[in-house]
Amino acid sequence: MTTGGEFYQRLGVKRIINAASWITVFGGSIMPPAVVQAMEEASHWFVDMHDLNQKAGDVIAELTGAEAGLVTAGSAAGMVLEAAATMAGNDPAKVWRLPDTEGMKNEIVLHRAHRVNYDHNFRAAGAKLVEIGNASTTQEWELEDAINENTAAVAYIFGPRRGGAIPLPRAVEIAHSHDVPVIVDAAAMLPPPENLSRFIDEGADMVSFSGGKGVLGPQSTGILAGRADLIEAAYANGAPNSVSVGRSAKVCKEEIAGLITALQIFVDTDFETVNANWRAQCAHVVEELKDIPGIMVELEEARPDLLESSSNFAKAVVHFDQGWNGPSVEQIDQMLEDGDPGVRIGKSDVGDALAVYPVNLQSGEEEILAARLREVLTGG
Ligand SMILES: *Cc1c(COP(=O)(O)O)cnc(C)c1O
Repeated sequence: MTTGGEFYQRLGVKRIINAASWITVFGGSIMPPAVVQAMEEASHWFVDMHDLNQKAGDVIAELTGAEAGLVTAGSAAGMVLEAAATMAGNDPAKVWRLPDTEGMKNEIVLHRAHRVNYDHNFRAAGAKLVEIGNASTTQEWELEDAINENTAAVAYIFGPRRGGAIPLPRAVEIAHSHDVPVIVDAAAMLPPPENLSRFIDEGADMVSFSGGKGVLGPQSTGILAGRADLIEAAYANGAPNSVSVGRSAKVCKEEIAGLITALQIFVDTDFETVNANWRAQCAHVVEELKDIPGIMVELEEARPDLLESSSNFAKAVVHFDQGWNGPSVEQIDQMLEDGDPGVRIGKSDVGDALAVYPVNLQSGEEEILAARLREVLTGG
């Protein structure tokens, strides 16, 4: 490896055109230059990390309308800290004991409709998950019935699909009538920026977001906002406290500088324009592919009102006719991946379909992407 040229090239790592959204495995997102610059500037000096965390938390509190905030090492780390905070509080003996939760309230109630791979993070802190409802409906009595003297929290996850969960404001009412806090994972729900305060407004006690998805902060950061006592407890259960379950999810001063800068840019961004650009990129893909026989390609409009992370922006979706005898979805994926740069695209939520997610397409990449897709779909 030499020192000249571009880093990924020197290391022999292929670049990717990312039409699969803010997926961690493809690098998350691209930070604006001002974010990278803030990280660079922060790297020159030492600071007291308690002071930095407190002041950064104040910015999060202001922008979310919550009592307090904390920069985390991603929404997954935020979920570990939410669980730890609601189980152990900031009692040093309990903080030390986690993930062993014997003698503590340790049950977290979760809708079956909300089960996602990330709920592992609640268990990582030692919580036991108690499921309510089924994939498509949940009755309010099921939540009432699941809450008992061991309940630490009711969790609420805004993932790709919400199924039949009890609406958040109602779940909050029920949980609060039993003095149980509601902890929310809204990792991929930004943008729209209104969601920064929405779930807090609806009564959630803690809300966790990713900093490295639509906020365009460092990929390894997240945002936790909520009640002052719970944020204090979350902080006690993580770095820099070296005897905490969250110590392995440390955030460095440069990442805090990057996240706070990204957040400030995020709230000043005109998302009407951004959404129009994303939609135009999808429309270009639709236009370039629509005459290919055997497929149906459509522009799926944004539906932020659905409160599903996969519906917050427009997409171009490719459906295959019954008689399609071209390459399978897996083969298409492989062919796109094998090019240089590799192209990664999303899968639709329903059926055997491909989805172009525009949010990580850099300007002009939609043209390369559409041409590659056309080539692959027509066997060219
Ligand atoms: C991405 C995601 C997470 C994890 O967030 P990170 O910031 O990558 O740790 C958790 N929950 C949901 C629903 C997500 O989409």
